Amino acid sequence: MALQGLGENLLRIFLGDVPSLPPREALRTPRRPFRDLAAGNAGAARPGADGADKPCATEPTGGLWTPVGKALPAVSTPVCTPLPRIRQSNEGGPLGTRGKAPSIAAFRRQRDALAAAAFAEFNASVFDGRLPADLAMGWNAHLKTTAGLTHYRRQACVSNVFGTILRYSARVELSAKVVDAPAKLRATLLHELCHVAAWLLPPHVAKPPHGPAFKFWAGCALRAHPELPVTTCHAYQIHAPFRWRCKSACCGREYQRHSNSIDVARQACGECRGRLVFLGRFNPDNTPMKTRAPSGFSLFVRDNFAAAKAAAGPGEPHAAVMRALSERWRSRKAALAGATAE
Ligand SMILES: [Zn+2]
Ligand SMILES: [Zn+2]
Repeated sequence: MALQGLGENLLRIFLGDVPSLPPREALRTPRRPFRDLAAGNAGAARPGADGADKPCATEPTGGLWTPVGKALPAVSTPVCTPLPRIRQSNEGGPLGTRGKAPSIAAFRRQRDALAAAAFAEFNASVFDGRLPADLAMGWNAHLKTTAGLTHYRRQACVSNVFGTILRYSARVELSAKVVDAPAKLRATLLHELCHVAAWLLPPHVAKPPHGPAFKFWAGCALRAHPELPVTTCHAYQIHAPFRWRCKSACCGREYQRHSNSIDVARQACGECRGRLVFLGRFNPDNTPMKTRAPSGFSLFVRDNFAAAKAAAGPGEPHAAVMRALSERWRSRKAALAGATAE
């Protein structure tokens, strides 16, 4: 009987019938009331009580994910010894800390190193160094309201008469649009690492996403980092630099977008149907962004793109049209330089 069951199991593995993965779980924007999980952690059960291993999900694929550029440092510090905190230059973000916020461009230059340092710090101080030092982390440029995602994967790596050995892995994605300051990065990463720990460490629980296993690790995080309560939804103000305002005197509603995506000639205020006016681009501290005068080449492209596209014919890719325009621009500049020299 036992042998028969084993045979069926091996046949299923051979046929590729590995259990499917649970849907990926996301840290959402505060559509729901702000709730502090850590507050309810006193009675949180250690994972395992209901932590039966649920079928888990196929790792979502897609080309949006870009890996963190710098390799993660191996955790070499003794277990439970916190690494030095990374210096937070933007303590003035929406999380209510102090100091001057850095520009988004400055944060983008540092974010890989900040993520790697925060991971090493949390792995030592919260997870006893039990998370893999080379955990995959990356930035997703298309997440507009979700701050972070954890992807789960389970594979059968060895099957023999004694059973199947499963290999668990996880991957963390951070939103490039929402996570735009060091304080948000630390809070979001700590939340996602609680999901990673619930999945990678026994009893390997992915569902419910914010169930007892997650709460157990959120409690560990709260004890190590009381300044970073792990919550189920973030309250970040999402910075969108492009702004418009309704011209109607009794309305005046403002609209913000990540890109210049509102056409004021075609679109109107959703409240009062009034006309919209473009206010410009703004920094996170509400100061107007400095605008650069368009370069000679960009003016040349603006004036000649339509003609070049028509000359290239239908179906010609945008890159080819731009290459042709670049050639014309170079020869025109060379001709001008020759005329000046004469
Ligand atoms: Zn979550
Ligand atoms: Zn309006």
